[in-house]
Amino acid sequence: MYDNKWLTNNGPLLQEFSARLAGYLGVPFLVPTSNGTAALQLAYRLFNLKGNIITTPYSFVATCNSADWVGLDVKFSDIDATSLNISPMLIEGEIDNNTSALVPVHAYGNPCNVDAIGKIARENKLKVIYDAAHAFGVTYKNRSVLLQGDASAISMHATKLFHCVEGGALILKNAKHYERAMNIINFGIDVRKQNISPPGFNGKLSEINAAMGLAMLDDVDKIISRRLSHYHLYKALLSDHVAYPKWNEDANQCAAYFPILLTNEAQRIAVHDELAKHGIQSRAYFSPSLNKIDYFSKRQTAACPVSESAASRVLCLPLFYALEQKEIRKICRIIIKTLNRYPIRKACSYLSH
Ligand SMILES: *Cc1c(COP(=O)(O)O)cnc(C)c1O
Repeated sequence: MYDNKWLTNNGPLLQEFSARLAGYLGVPFLVPTSNGTAALQLAYRLFNLKGNIITTPYSFVATCNSADWVGLDVKFSDIDATSLNISPMLIEGEIDNNTSALVPVHAYGNPCNVDAIGKIARENKLKVIYDAAHAFGVTYKNRSVLLQGDASAISMHATKLFHCVEGGALILKNAKHYERAMNIINFGIDVRKQNISPPGFNGKLSEINAAMGLAMLDDVDKIISRRLSHYHLYKALLSDHVAYPKWNEDANQCAAYFPILLTNEAQRIAVHDELAKHGIQSRAYFSPSLNKIDYFSKRQTAACPVSESAASRVLCLPLFYALEQKEIRKICRIIIKTLNRYPIRKACSYLSH
């Protein structure tokens, strides 16, 4: 970065990173952004969304906060109990005259029912912006799942499968949208026309993040393959004891997360706490169901019982490159032992939402 004497503003490292990343993902138009939240907000402004959007309550809070923050009303539509993705059967009940887009999430990288969602969007003239924050490297019917809908936002935050410390990208389908989006993340400055339009914001990714991304791209295949072997070992050891979200049969597994579903919240808490006693972190992810967040629950009445149930029972187990097989075996032994003794005590306060 210092050799180039260029620290940010679409520098040479960013251009190299964007091109390599687009090639790796198999997508034609990729707009790098400062984070995944900015990529979502860029999409909402690029497509000039108004009124309300319909999204899933089973996600990280950035999905709905990003829309709220640009003045869109958020409507939640409950999820399918097997995939834990937004249920196409329920979406139509939420659409009204002010709905401008659907914002589904590929939860844990598991592709939504994209065909049914696409059909609903066409019939109701809605945009589809996928929150694909977890779907790095995921294919659906042998093409990148990021090519579904009108746009897909990925996150390259440090907690994600692939990262550049902080970063994101919006995947688009044509050059016109791409150029407009590149202006929007640069304050709206149209360099070629010497003009400022549309009103933009600062959503740029810096050279230091691009350098990190380039370094990570060198290793990402190795990282994914090791994570996949962790994933399969967990599955082999736990499948007789816990349930999983059902993975889309037309998609590959990306091993971004290892979520397990327990029978109820007390059991989840027991497993979480027993792991914690051994110094092992696990996460109730996604919890709470987003429709239960104070500022959203006050505005909308529709309950999302399926999402609320999943949010109370889910636990994501440790999954990272440096994890070792013997550690996975130990984690699974602790879980199985805890489940055998269950119920050991009542729900405690750390999940007091
Ligand atoms: C991480 C995440 C985001 C936000 O990405 P940032 O890069 O952290 O802004 C959005 N949606 C989901 C589902 C996420 O997991």
